Amino acid sequence: MFDLNPVFIPGPTNIPDRLRNAMHIQTRDHRAPDFVKTLAPVLNDCKKVFKTTEGEVIIFPATGTGGWEAAITNTLSPGDKVLIARYGMFSHRWIDLCQRHGLDVQIIECAWGSGAPEDLFAEALAQDQNYDIKAVLVTHNETATGVRSDIAGVRRAINASSHPALFLVDCVSSLGSMPFEMDEWEVDIAVAGSQKGFMLTTGMAILGVSQKALSLMKYAKLPRTFFDFGDMMRANASSGYPYTPPLQLIYGLRESLNMIFEEGLDNVFSRHHRLAEGVRHAVSGWGLNLCAQSPDLYSDTVSAIYVPEGFDSNELTEHAFNTYSVSFGTGLGEMNAKAFRIGHLGALTDVMVLSGLATIEMAMVDLNYPIKLGSGVVAAQEYFRTTAHTKRG
Ligand SMILES: *Cc1c(COP(=O)(O)O)cnc(C)c1O
Repeated sequence: MFDLNPVFIPGPTNIPDRLRNAMHIQTRDHRAPDFVKTLAPVLNDCKKVFKTTEGEVIIFPATGTGGWEAAITNTLSPGDKVLIARYGMFSHRWIDLCQRHGLDVQIIECAWGSGAPEDLFAEALAQDQNYDIKAVLVTHNETATGVRSDIAGVRRAINASSHPALFLVDCVSSLGSMPFEMDEWEVDIAVAGSQKGFMLTTGMAILGVSQKALSLMKYAKLPRTFFDFGDMMRANASSGYPYTPPLQLIYGLRESLNMIFEEGLDNVFSRHHRLAEGVRHAVSGWGLNLCAQSPDLYSDTVSAIYVPEGFDSNELTEHAFNTYSVSFGTGLGEMNAKAFRIGHLGALTDVMVLSGLATIEMAMVDLNYPIKLGSGVVAAQEYFRTTAHTKRG
């Protein structure tokens, strides 16, 4: 029975029955002439989620990390300079991946809990008169700290000096949950995955790729085979895949897109905002603080919450798991032991969120946190109660 409990980790997310059923299929021949009829509409419909009409969508059997690797290896060469800010575990891991690929990584160190520093990006790019910086890399939603950065703002910072650098954005924990505008923000590669906003099992890196990024493939010298955009696009256009595709996941993605479009992308975003607000009301009710430094940075998909001085957040998440069989996100990197995370993205309702808040609240009281039982839940209840609108006749 315990497996009926939702997870409150910020990915992989809860998989609705409808998507589990859609993935429950017998093997089909991916070299059969009709496979492309399955694949092509899925790729096309993904563009609506990235909000791109000009770019292409490419799907690799991989995870978000593979998507990062695909983004840099198809567009850059060894020794190329890239500009990136470190403000959490995911931007940190992308930096590490770039360094291991022999890129010259110019890092802007920022406090964890802050967002992409548009002004510092603008400054670094303005100083780069010779255009040595080939790409600017940004994590849209820093899942470790619950911080959403302003991607339009970073684009303005790049355009302020008319800098030609590529703009590569990690939107793994934001796409399909919070507004994302690939064309409008002139994002060259947007990296997403199957296991967050798409509510699927892990196993696909889903990339939106601009024509500008595609045009750089012929100059990019970083080695790539599995992640080659050219091989993938040629195969997609004719028969299907350059190797064996993750068939069940592609069927799952078809159904996930159906669900998202039926609810309406904007409604999906407002549901996420409302759920996040409910969680934030609970955090205030407890008298605790978010890692995100200011409200403009608050993420609608994950909240990272500092535990009070003298407490260990790992004990809290372990206790919640051992006692109530509910998973919450642990503190990553600099946040280890200092913060826990509540993932509130994907297939979730306010009723499910209330169950998570009630659970972590019990766990905190069990461990003698200085909070009152019910204090967070009642704040979330008040918020949900007063913002609910009738969904059923
Ligand atoms: C989950 C996540 C990733 C990808 O991680 P994988 O485990 O490789 O799928 C990348 N970036 C962010 C911001 C994430 O939340």
